[in-house]
Amino acid sequence: MIFKCKNCGGNAVYEPGRKKMYCPHCESLDSEDIVRDKSITQCANCGAPITIGEYTSASKCAHCGSYIVFDERVEGVYEPHLILPFKVNKEMAVEALNTEFRKRTFTPSGFLSEKSLEGMNGMYVPFWLYDYQANYDFAGTGTKVRTWRSGDTEYTETSYYDIERHMHAGFDKVPVDASLGMGDGEMDLMEPYTYADLEGFDPKYMSGFFGEVYNQEAPELEGRAKEKVKEASETLLRQSLGGYTSITPRNKNLNLERDGINFALLPVWMYLYQYRGKTYRFHVNGQTGKVVGKTPVSKEKVLAYGLSAMVFVSTITSLILTILEVL
Ligand SMILES: [Zn+2]
Ligand SMILES: [Zn+2]
Repeated sequence: MIFKCKNCGGNAVYEPGRKKMYCPHCESLDSEDIVRDKSITQCANCGAPITIGEYTSASKCAHCGSYIVFDERVEGVYEPHLILPFKVNKEMAVEALNTEFRKRTFTPSGFLSEKSLEGMNGMYVPFWLYDYQANYDFAGTGTKVRTWRSGDTEYTETSYYDIERHMHAGFDKVPVDASLGMGDGEMDLMEPYTYADLEGFDPKYMSGFFGEVYNQEAPELEGRAKEKVKEASETLLRQSLGGYTSITPRNKNLNLERDGINFALLPVWMYLYQYRGKTYRFHVNGQTGKVVGKTPVSKEKVLAYGLSAMVFVSTITSLILTILEVL
């Protein structure tokens, strides 16, 4: 399908800055008509032959520049449950990169040149969002050590505590990217997203952007979601065990119950920068503007800039903690 302007026939796209459909040709807003076309081999606008990847759900015609959403890749089993529309447009994404890298010493002069930026695209990355109920039972022995001096003698008192924790936490929409082409580490660094902006799926949000269906099924990727929840549960447990000199666990049992899975599209700006024969990948979170990149200086390390990488702040929906301590 393609979104055409009723006034001038131009290709209407979703404009994040205005939060509306926008025709770049005659500048009208919300003037779009859907033109359905089932083809995945030719452009719905100009008829030019088009070749798309195995997972492509939205792309751009190389001939006429129209953005096309492929019907059969957004329907049936491929219909997303949720979409997080872009909030950051291209200018804002470039500004975010500029702010981050302008001050860095490496920055080559052509880093954000018009020519290099032509290849910068907004992409709806497929994600699975998993919901869990976590029950964590912990039992162990804690010590608190107190020392003091009286005259020439030093005294040490060790108190032993029986510790029990019963923690229940609900984790809502733990994200795992389902795109083979996107690095797992980079996508994890894109977090956090603010889920309050999630919408029911509407293909109009994809006009003006690229997109993919999930490359892998939800069960295949669930291990990564569980790892994230386990890590977050350990963090919560540790936070509840502050104040002890030492802790010896006797029993730890974390039980995860999955109670929901959603297929969602999350917005990411992708910028590939060629420098001295190497390609550097930069990503900008299309909702928050957070920048993730691999700079020519730190070759191996992917770094996140701007925002803190506290992943689970937004995903824990409830936390009930029962604490039992017996001296
Ligand atoms: Zn128009
Ligand atoms: Zn075309």
